[in-house]
Amino acid sequence: MMISKSMENLINNNSVIRKMFEEGKILKEKYGEENVFDFSIGNPSVEVPEKVNLAIKQVVEDKDIHSYMNNSGYDDVRETIAQSINNRFETEFEKKNIIMCTGAAGGINAILRTILNPEDEVVVLVPYFMEYKNYVENYYAKIIEVGCNEDFTPKLDEFEDKITLKTKAVIINNPNNPSGIVYSENVINKISEVLTKKQKEFNSSIYIISDEPYREIVFDGIKVPFITKYYNNSLVVYSYSKSLSIPGERIGYIVVPSKAYDFENLIQGIAIAIRILGFVNAPSLMQKVVKECVDITADMCVYEKNRDLLYNGLIKTGFECVKPQGTFYLFLKSPIMDEKKFCEIAKQFNILMVPGSSFSKPGYVRLAFCTQTKKIENALPKFKELYEMMKERI
Ligand code: PLP
Repeated sequence: MMISKSMENLINNNSVIRKMFEEGKILKEKYGEENVFDFSIGNPSVEVPEKVNLAIKQVVEDKDIHSYMNNSGYDDVRETIAQSINNRFETEFEKKNIIMCTGAAGGINAILRTILNPEDEVVVLVPYFMEYKNYVENYYAKIIEVGCNEDFTPKLDEFEDKITLKTKAVIINNPNNPSGIVYSENVINKISEVLTKKQKEFNSSIYIISDEPYREIVFDGIKVPFITKYYNNSLVVYSYSKSLSIPGERIGYIVVPSKAYDFENLIQGIAIAIRILGFVNAPSLMQKVVKECVDITADMCVYEKNRDLLYNGLIKTGFECVKPQGTFYLFLKSPIMDEKKFCEIAKQFNILMVPGSSFSKPGYVRLAFCTQTKKIENALPKFKELYEMMKERI
């Protein structure tokens, strides 16, 4: 083979996801779209706000928006975003603290490229978005997993034990994909305390990278703590993919607080990383569009409605799960240990779900409820049949 060994492995792993996608397609062709209950994909289902479409048209009218620019993004866009964050979270950011990036995926890669040496360690909290492993391995560093309690909060003793001299960063994802939980102020304070202590002990510097594409999708009025207020060495990665329903447009930003360790080098490094990773700069048109839309989101109330319907329905049926506080995911406990088998059995009822081992948490399955409410209504009787069948097996 001409391709690298690591890419060969990635191709082999990717076939699992492709297989799931292909199977879904076959089921839809066979039984009709409306009779397949596809809870596997996290694509926003609500409409793009009208203001986004209007802004696209308006921005296109302007001259000089298609050029290369500063790798960090347009100054006016960064300034507007800084002020919007300050208004919402009582922070004091300026444009120098904001770097525009190509979605959260691009932002995380730019940060990791900037801070990691080969063999450095990046700690993640199980269950987690598996792409983190790929992103960390892009830079020949190592992912270190920390287990979770029944409520999906991290095991703090284990967390403390796993922070070493080699730890460069901890990635947290708040609200969390796949569990749907929000790490509370209490959890954030405890994580911060451990890291502060370890930085002193090792005379090192450990960054928290807070990946927040779901910040705006929270239920019951719950608030997501703004990490930079709790821990100086923290970087926030935000994305408009979910909040404005525009994942294909690849737009987001990174917040680098002035009090983060090695600030000047960090911001210069991240800007260079954006260039040399080949992004060059975040999409110019979309930067100007989000400037016009900083304080709006898509109408996401349907996600809360779907959460209630799905959660209550599944619990009533007899399934076990922690109630999601945000995102559009629900992490269901598999009635049998082998959750891959459970996913296979569910296919007999045309229900598609993602096994928890894809998030390093076997024994659970992820359901994405960014779908039409009607779909969930129709799926619940199928879940009941599935549950009855599973009961016979236990
Ligand atoms: N982080 C998490 C936890 C996600 O779930 C996703 C996408 O689903 C991403 C990052 C990547 O999002 P983006 O489209 O902003 O790159």
